[in-house]
Amino acid sequence: MAYNCVVLIKQVPDTKRITGQAMNDDGTVNRGALPAIFNPEDLNALELALQIKEEFGGSVTVITMGLPAASVVLRDSLYRGADDAILLTDRRCAASDTLATSYILSCAVKKLDYDIILCGRQAIDGDTAQVGPQLAEKLGVPQITYVEALLELKGATITARRNIGNGWQVVRSRLPVLLTITDDANEPRVAAARRMMKYKKARTPAELEQQIRQDNPDLEEPAVQKLIEQTCRSLEEKGLLIKQWDLDFVEADLTWCGRNGSPTKVHRIQSVILGAKESKDVEPTSEAMADMVHELIQDRIIA
Ligand code: FAD
Repeated sequence: MAYNCVVLIKQVPDTKRITGQAMNDDGTVNRGALPAIFNPEDLNALELALQIKEEFGGSVTVITMGLPAASVVLRDSLYRGADDAILLTDRRCAASDTLATSYILSCAVKKLDYDIILCGRQAIDGDTAQVGPQLAEKLGVPQITYVEALLELKGATITARRNIGNGWQVVRSRLPVLLTITDDANEPRVAAARRMMKYKKARTPAELEQQIRQDNPDLEEPAVQKLIEQTCRSLEEKGLLIKQWDLDFVEADLTWCGRNGSPTKVHRIQSVILGAKESKDVEPTSEAMADMVHELIQDRIIA
């Protein structure tokens, strides 16, 4: 039996490379100051989907919801082996919290024929690990979270091992199912040179529009629109136009999107920067460790 896999991928700022300019004065993330990368555990989700396709047949479709710049992770997925890629972009998605994000993604997934939906366990920027479980709930499908190994896939039944911190659980589910994948699950493959050559010119309509406007600053609007249409058509004929969907296309109810659909309110954001005075060198001896643990218990930092 072949399986259609849908992988949810997110472009995130590289939080390992935080510098002094990473935060704006108002406490929001200065995304421009940090390099953007493929969310690491989404690469594990993509790898598992590709392995399923290789063993059983079927297809791998990746979806990202984000700005046109997120097209980079879609191209990267095509280089690694995905069959199809979708950019879900719309100004009305702005200010979406996890509830709105998972709602919008659920509308997109419903447009596809799917057996297995794969998410990373967690995104390294928002860090909530909520989107996968919320998405399963909205699609009305069972979920297996924290998956570290796929044990069996037979007919419409999947068996996976999930990491529960101090042990593991083996869970069996019927399909369709949503899995959230940890970084222990596999070693993501690198981009294939042959696929890079094939897809390096693949673009979303939003990217083409940006490029056309940049290259033709003096062109009248109707001429710009005509050029965009022509370029999109020519890429589509070559199989290089990456799909782009908006909220109208996925038939999302706007009351559940963006700020309207986001009950989370951020009251205050505080940057915590540890100074030299707040760190302490501890000798690597049992006595020094015991003293440090004792001190942390006294300060009620640990119990
Ligand atoms: P997690 O739940 O940790 O992600 C788990 C997995 O879900 C990922 O590994 C991936 O597989 C999938 N996933 C998560 N997000 C996406 C995505 N976008 N596309 C595809 N797959 C995905 N963010 C903005 O960019 N712009 C805003 O204006 C904005 N406003 C916000 C306002 C509020 C009040 C709040 C609370 C958050 C806002 N965010 C905004 C952040 C946004 O809510 C999160 O980035 C998003 O909901 C994902 O949550 P997370 O990063 O915790 O993902």
